[in-house]
Parts: sequence; structure tokens; C-alpha cells
Amino acid sequence: MSMPVLIREGEVKTRKDHRCFGCGEKIPVGTEVYSSTCTGDGCIYTLYLCTECREFMTDYPDLCEDYDGIIWEGRIGEARQEFEADMAGKEVE
Ligand SMILES: [Zn+2]
Repeated sequence: MSMPVLIREGEVKTRKDHRCFGCGEKIPVGTEVYSSTCTGDGCIYTLYLCTECREFMTDYPDLCEDYDGIIWEGRIGEARQEFEADMAGKEVE
């Protein structure tokens, strides 16, 4: 297992359906999304993030990363829900 190396990242317009790496939501064709292409373990792969996940990850990286600084698939969506639940809880107090 080697560390993935980032080759390219930035905004792209999707040419086919993808799923957001962060929350698993479907990203339809023709959506402007953030993508990063990495190479590691002998293959090249591209991850897509919906705008909500991208913004959340930028604002609250600590909530998305685990102790090793790794962001797992689906983790940003979970973190967003936890964060929103937290916020809702605070409003009630
Ligand atoms: Zn997402």
C-alpha cells in the first residue's frame, strides 16, 4: 500500500453520471463539480465531490478526516449530518 499521489484537481463538468465520494449523492451529467485524479497502488482513479461536500471539507477538514488525515468514502456526508444535528441541538438550548 503506497500513498496516493494527486495528479490533477479542479472544477470539471461531468460527462457521465458519478457519485459524490463524500456523501454518495448522485451527480448528474453536466454538473460542475470538484474532482481530483490520483494515482496509487498501480491504478489511476478520479474522485468527485458535490459542491456541498467540497465546501464542508474546506471549512471543516477536521470533521472529515480521521486521525491519520484520511477521508473515507461517505465520511463527509456523515460529518455534514453530525454537524447539522449539532447545530440543531444548539438552537434548542
Ligand atoms: Zn457530496
